[in-house]
Amino acid sequence: MNNAESSHNDISMLIERLARIMRAAEHSTGLDPVQWQALRYLARCNRFSNSPKALGKYLVTTKGTVSQTVKILVKKELLEKHPRPHHGRSITLVLTEKGKSLLQNDPWKKISYRAQQLDHMTREVLFEGLFDILNAEITAGAIHPFGVCNSCNFFCHLPPTQASTNKPHWCSLLETGLDKEDSGKICEEHERPDQAL
Ligand code: SF4
Repeated sequence: MNNAESSHNDISMLIERLARIMRAAEHSTGLDPVQWQALRYLARCNRFSNSPKALGKYLVTTKGTVSQTVKILVKKELLEKHPRPHHGRSITLVLTEKGKSLLQNDPWKKISYRAQQLDHMTREVLFEGLFDILNAEITAGAIHPFGVCNSCNFFCHLPPTQASTNKPHWCSLLETGLDKEDSGKICEEHERPDQAL
C-alpha cells in the first residue's frame, strides 16, 4: 500500500492491529492489558491523581474492574495501598519497587523505540494526528480528560522571590507548590481542553 492509497479506514485498521499485537504481548507477561495500563497510569500520574477513582476515570472503566485490578496488582506485590494523609478513608495507590522494575520491561516500550526511529517530521505529524483523534473521542464520549501539569491553566511559574528551590511552580487550583517531577506528570484536575489526554 502506498501513501497515496491510504485512507481513514486504513488508519483505524492499523491502530486496531497494532493494539491487538500489543495486547497479545502484554498477556504473554502474565498481566492483562488493564493491569499494565494501571501500572503505566500510576507511573505517570501526579500525587493528586493516584486514587482508585482517578484510575477508573483514566481507564474509562467500572469501579468493580478497578477494584479487581488493584487487588491482583497488590497480590503480585506490584502496588501498595496507603492512606491519603489528612483525607479520612481515602487511599493512594503507590507502585512498589517491583512494579517500577517491571515497567522497565513494558511491552509498549518497543513502540516508543520504533517511534524514535521515525524521522522528526513523520513523528511530529503522527503525534499531532493521533492526538487530534484522541481528543475528538474524549470530547465526543464526554470522557474525563487528563493532561500534563505544565500545560494546565492552573499551572504558574513562581517568581524567584517566592519559589523554593525544590518547588519552583504553583497550582492555583489546589493551592500547593509543585516540583519539577509534579510539573511533568498527568493530573485528573488538569484544565485545558485542547491538551487533553
Ligand atoms: S496545575 Fe493543573 S494539572 Fe497541575 S496539579 Fe494543579 S490542577 Fe493538576
